[in-house]
Amino acid sequence: MNITELKNKVIQTIEDNKDIIIEVGRKIYKNPEFGYKEFETTKTVSKFLSEELGLEVEEGIAYTGCRARANGDKEGPKVAILGELDAISCNDHCDANEIGAIHACGHNIQVAGMLGAAVGLVKSGVLSHLGGKVDFMATPAEEFVELEYRSKLRADGKIKYFGGKQEMIYNGTFDDVNMAIMFHALDLGDKKVLTGPVSNGFIGKQVKFIGKEAHAGSAPYEGINALNAAMLAINNVHAQRETFKESDKVRFHPIITKGGDIVNVVPADVRMESYVRARTIDGMVDANYKVNRGLIAGAHAVGASIEITEIPGYLPILRHDSMEKVLRENLDFLGLENDVIEGGDFTGSFDFGDVSHIIPTLHPMFGGIKGGLHTKEYNIADEEAAYLLPAKAMALTVVDLLINEGKTAKEILENFKPTMTKEEYLKFMESNDKIIKA
Ligand SMILES: [Zn+2]
Repeated sequence: MNITELKNKVIQTIEDNKDIIIEVGRKIYKNPEFGYKEFETTKTVSKFLSEELGLEVEEGIAYTGCRARANGDKEGPKVAILGELDAISCNDHCDANEIGAIHACGHNIQVAGMLGAAVGLVKSGVLSHLGGKVDFMATPAEEFVELEYRSKLRADGKIKYFGGKQEMIYNGTFDDVNMAIMFHALDLGDKKVLTGPVSNGFIGKQVKFIGKEAHAGSAPYEGINALNAAMLAINNVHAQRETFKESDKVRFHPIITKGGDIVNVVPADVRMESYVRARTIDGMVDANYKVNRGLIAGAHAVGASIEITEIPGYLPILRHDSMEKVLRENLDFLGLENDVIEGGDFTGSFDFGDVSHIIPTLHPMFGGIKGGLHTKEYNIADEEAAYLLPAKAMALTVVDLLINEGKTAKEILENFKPTMTKEEYLKFMESNDKIIKA
């Protein structure tokens, strides 16, 4: 079979199996689970990979999550196709469960898309024509939420990092992976695909302002008001904003998670959470330094003290043009040339950004949904566009990368210079993992 015949076979197999692909996407949608709690979802994925495709599955790759290795006996490079398992919280969404969990970021679509790509490559028999290995990975905990739960997992030695892919880099899951592909769902209007997005990275922060309690009516002069410290701190950061470069696209968006205890006592324990986001690592480090300076000054202005827990967040997503080119050819092959948005600028963050600093990656966005991510308006408007199109595009891209003994993949890898080695990455993560007391 020539390459066009192989690609057509992949597409036909995905079409022939579209019911089970859409079904697994719907099943995961109906049982949303937060990060590092995706036990049922992992089982669903694992069952699909083993029963539908006859692959051997390893579970618990990063506390939850699973991976299947295909074509393990081939010599060539290894491509991983990823899908994220976790839901988010949106209480107002009509499909949210009793604790407000809902797949309103479309991660169920990613998992079904990844499984669809697996169907296209494995069930079609096309994989045996390729000169490289393919891993299918269901990855946990992309959303950076439930920090207390994750702190507990960390204290219990179950994880080291709050983000699933960070944990997977740390624990060696990516050690034998040469390149990685995944997609994210997004409302693209009347277009179907967005290629080559870039995004912000961030450093996470939990802040404690420590004051002194006193009777708020009769003796406030004996107290130290930690809420005043927090308000000054926020305004101090506002005064830094003109020093942030436009190109760094800095975001600081704190919330007060505890504002005091009871109303007639001067607040002595006030808590805040925020991210410091920016487009580049240097921008993140610079903004974070200035934010901390502002927070500390706010505390000291009223005689309070402060404890800042820095949590390593995600790195910006990098665009790898050599990979984009292969994807783009396959979007054309699928007849999508007029449905593509070139490039996208996101000031949110994805933990796949971390992976993009170490190996060549692809992270297109596919449509088929309507409404903003994480909002009550979010819904899947076109299941075939949401689930099947990305499955086809990713599977065809793998065919191009690994055909002819993995020639294209090998060329990309030869010319690839990682922004960081795994060791440099872990060192950077370690440097952002600290408690500052002042
Ligand atoms: Zn998401």
